[in-house]
Amino acid sequence: MTTLADPVPGGRPGDLERATALGGELAGRGVHGVVLAYVDTAGVARVKTVPTAKLPSAAAWGVGMSPVFDTFLADDSIVATDVLGSPDGDLRLYPDLDHLVVLSGQPGWAWAPVDRITQEGTRHPGCGRTALRRIVADAEQRHGITFRAGIEIEWAFGQGGAPDGEFVPAVAGPAYGATRQVELSDCAADLLAALAAQGVDVDQLHPEYAAGQFEVSVGALDPVAAADRSVLVRQTVRAVARRHGLKVSFSPAVTARGVGNGGHIHLSAWRDGVNLHSGGEGRYGMTAAAESFVAGLLARLPALTAVTAPSPASYLRLRPSQWAGVFTAWGRETREAAVRVVTGTQGVRDQAANLEVKPVDLAANPYLALGCLIAAGLDGLTSSASLPEEITGDPARLDAAEAAARGVRRLPSSLAGAVTAFRADALLRSALGPVLADAVIAVREGEIAAVDGLDDEQVAAAYRWAY
Ligand code: GLU
Ligand code: MG
Repeated sequence: MTTLADPVPGGRPGDLERATALGGELAGRGVHGVVLAYVDTAGVARVKTVPTAKLPSAAAWGVGMSPVFDTFLADDSIVATDVLGSPDGDLRLYPDLDHLVVLSGQPGWAWAPVDRITQEGTRHPGCGRTALRRIVADAEQRHGITFRAGIEIEWAFGQGGAPDGEFVPAVAGPAYGATRQVELSDCAADLLAALAAQGVDVDQLHPEYAAGQFEVSVGALDPVAAADRSVLVRQTVRAVARRHGLKVSFSPAVTARGVGNGGHIHLSAWRDGVNLHSGGEGRYGMTAAAESFVAGLLARLPALTAVTAPSPASYLRLRPSQWAGVFTAWGRETREAAVRVVTGTQGVRDQAANLEVKPVDLAANPYLALGCLIAAGLDGLTSSASLPEEITGDPARLDAAEAAARGVRRLPSSLAGAVTAFRADALLRSALGPVLADAVIAVREGEIAAVDGLDDEQVAAAYRWAY
């Protein structure tokens, strides 16, 4: 389990000794440097690195980095809020030693996610990982609820030698096709080996639907660790692909038309070690609490998309009948509903039952996305929200009257629509806190302005290699 205690100047008790021992061990294994990783508000993974010998100092005193990245856009231009976006100030990046791994895909390097705190030792209100730790800790303290989560990762392999900025699929062959698996046999085997060596519990790796597309799914962890893992897996996919002369796009829409890259989030709520999505009196074995949790998610999905689908490119993916789940509906194993109830197979349901939230992509900051999903679901749970009837088949076929009668709404079809819904959602804004919520709004508005006047192909091209 991820430690929920904040880092402190000088290190939490034992951190310095541990980092000193760990640094020695890493050096002995040929590790020269440690990548310190976080994700900004726009969803871009940012890093600093330190030589391995500096790991103890990083664990005790952190590593400096400007808070300005909280209001960076995906193209590295900068917007501002009342408190963020200025060239002033500095933060300390603290590596989480529990989640430090030696990068098998990048020999000579280790990797650790970071929390960012101020020079005064207080929480940085713009840090997404810190916000998620707080949300998870509150859920446990106030409601006795813990969570398990997993993030699916989809991407497209492009030919490394393609002209600058262009995407040329690295494999031919049909969706889920055996030919693709053969064509990328060595690369895929290296990827599995690297992930296994890094302690990532892979469930599946398979060729997906769109041109050059593959997917990896991984086992469930606590939410903070699941978000960390999503960042680590992408770093590894990118590194292994590069050694095979390939490029990788995690963008929601590698091209303007067709199926995009999702980052579906699997989530389950637990109380006293019992899975609330299994063994209950509700539909498909859900407990009353789990049904209300789903209802809470559905109610806030339009606002949630500002966090789970944060890029202008996200709205090229979020179209009906592309398995991206663009309607506020739930169903058992229904791939066009935004929330898919996964019961698992007879015999393992008490462990496996969970929810899959589909209108999430990999432009999303995974810490913010998980934090907001948890806040929305918990609000439903604590208010005993009632879950509407399930949907079967594609909700796109419902006419307006039937959709309205069933409470099925189309999710925002543009980032601007999502921002309007997010602005109006006091619960989600307060879950993130005012500084982070304002950063979300400012960054989304900045992205909207950045693509003003671009057509769909130009939008896809603008974000193709950003995430
Ligand atoms: N690629 C689809 C998406 O954009 C998901 C396909 C699947 O269900 O795995 O979400
Ligand atoms: Mg998939």
